Amino acid sequence: MQDFPLLVHRVLDHAARWHGTTSILSRSVEGPLVRSDYATLNRRARALASAAERQLGLGLGSVIATMAWNTARHLEIWYGLMGLGAIVHTLNPRLFESQLSYIINHAGDQWIFTDLTFVPLFEALQDRLPHVRGFVILTDEAHMPAATTLRNPLCYETLLTWGDEDYGWPELDENTACGLCYTSGTTGNPKGVLYSHRSNVLHGLMCELGDAMALSARDTVMPVVPMFHANAWSLAFSAPLSGAALVLPGPKLDGASLYEILDMGQVSFAAAVPTVWLMLLRHLEQHKALSLPYLKRVVIGGSACPEAIMKAFVDNYGIDVIHAWGMTEMSPIGSLAVMSRRAAGLSPDEWWSLKLKQGRPPFMIDMKITDDEGNSLPHDGQTFGRLKVKGPAVARSYFKDEGAAAFDADGWFDTGDVATIDDYGYMHITDRAKDVIKSGGEWISSIMIENEAVGCNGVQEAAAIGLPHPKWDERPLLVVVRKPGSAVTAADIRAHLVGRIARWWMPDDVVFVDEIPHTATGKISKLELRERFKDHRFSLAPDDVQT
Ligand code: ADP
Repeated sequence: MQDFPLLVHRVLDHAARWHGTTSILSRSVEGPLVRSDYATLNRRARALASAAERQLGLGLGSVIATMAWNTARHLEIWYGLMGLGAIVHTLNPRLFESQLSYIINHAGDQWIFTDLTFVPLFEALQDRLPHVRGFVILTDEAHMPAATTLRNPLCYETLLTWGDEDYGWPELDENTACGLCYTSGTTGNPKGVLYSHRSNVLHGLMCELGDAMALSARDTVMPVVPMFHANAWSLAFSAPLSGAALVLPGPKLDGASLYEILDMGQVSFAAAVPTVWLMLLRHLEQHKALSLPYLKRVVIGGSACPEAIMKAFVDNYGIDVIHAWGMTEMSPIGSLAVMSRRAAGLSPDEWWSLKLKQGRPPFMIDMKITDDEGNSLPHDGQTFGRLKVKGPAVARSYFKDEGAAAFDADGWFDTGDVATIDDYGYMHITDRAKDVIKSGGEWISSIMIENEAVGCNGVQEAAAIGLPHPKWDERPLLVVVRKPGSAVTAADIRAHLVGRIARWWMPDDVVFVDEIPHTATGKISKLELRERFKDHRFSLAPDDVQT
């Protein structure tokens, strides 16, 4: 057989040659919607590669960073600079400034490609970034900031005019590094995950599969999940390789803007975290005349999808929901809950409880659950264990060999998640290992309490954390944000939970707050909550609970 290195720019070559006129619609940072296509993307990516080589001195192994929304320009940078052999480091603007300067310096970023939105952020940060040679601002001359203090500011559109659209890609080995993404670092400094051309192409193919995202040239795909959050869940690769049209929402992620672009772009497939979908559903609730005639499938992941969101899509709008699980270290997709033939015989309740799980691994992911000693645990849907994974798009180590403890000698990566696996092979995340509530030697799933609590009328958001307890080691505290105008009480919430969770999982206290803190990737910051409530005393006597 022929040698065909799996290089990400071959994905673009394919899309440009066979789907050249297929549309890419972006909401630009300057405001208007902009239409492009794969042939144009290919020409501009090559022009960028050539200009970056000649003008910026970039080449094999150079590391550059992007801080940018999902737009066609961001996609050009990925393909152009990865094709050149450079490594594209995506920066999450929601990280703290100290974390940003740490990761930019740790990665050795030479140039930063930034959207206009983040120019003030880098003006303030650049003195802490001694190795960054300059900043490419993703706009045209007309929109360049009049008086920026950024070091060596370059206009992106001008840089492109210096490049050659017929630039020929260099020969690269498929194991060449092409992307770098740091985990959000909820404990300690963020750690880097270095993707290769091969891992990104294989992961893109894996996500395209029928029992994964089932992408095809009939789809119009909108990654709402940012390209700076774990590879936009593969969509920057899996959409072009399947010939799907793309819609890129740019900086506007509120319900009204998302609805507008879903409708205008006739999007059939979209992917986002639950909080984003919640904003869209609220917008639809407030404007009853609106409908979603084009949208057929949505992927929801990044944190556990609440039942209310999933049912709203399926029951109210006839849209299928695929619950997916993964993490930066897995490129990021690890499992998807796509229903199989066997599910057809289930009762509606059984069907929903299967659909709410995180699902099965597609080909190229292997997974197991183990106890703390590393012994494999049964797939009985009951036994909780540490979730470990293997695969060609799973990290073998962190960048610069940090965090070695997560990788064992047999090549299994410990995800830090706790899960069950049932006899269908469906995995169900019950917690993060560090968030699981250890009560009387047994584990309580904080996520399962939260998911049931948000089903209670008047509850907007809920977080369960374990707090020290004199008798049971830890007991659950439920922290709740009420819906605007709601007067829901602790007693209402407890009454709602009865029968929905085991008796001994019942939170010992329910407290109300105005806001629950979130991490840079939109997850509830349990660390912050535990710190905030560390002096909380349970109102129940110690013997009242855990029977
Ligand atoms: P970080 O750990 O840096 O926040 P990731 O975005 O990579 O970054 O987060 C991965 C974690 O998110 C997983 O380990 C898991 O705990 C959680 N997660 C992702 N998807 C789901 C899901 N569908 N259900 C429950 N938890 C999820």
